[in-house]
Amino acid sequence: MVDLRVYECEGCGRRATVPRGDPAPGCCGKRMRLLPLEPCRVAPAAEHSRPMASEDACDDSRAG
Ligand SMILES: [Zn+2]
Repeated sequence: MVDLRVYECEGCGRRATVPRGDPAPGCCGKRMRLLPLEPCRVAPAAEHSRPMASEDACDDSRAG
């Protein structure tokens, strides 16, 4: 199993995978940023905050 590292360019967002031990690749004139490799710790997208439309269609509340 090869230990790979993923780098991402902060300039253009391009990613590069290089084996561990290799120097960080460069892009856009600067060094690429090392991304953390945590495939098992991907937090699920929060979908709990969906806007609930109030079902007060029949309630003719007069605002005043
Ligand atoms: Zn770049």
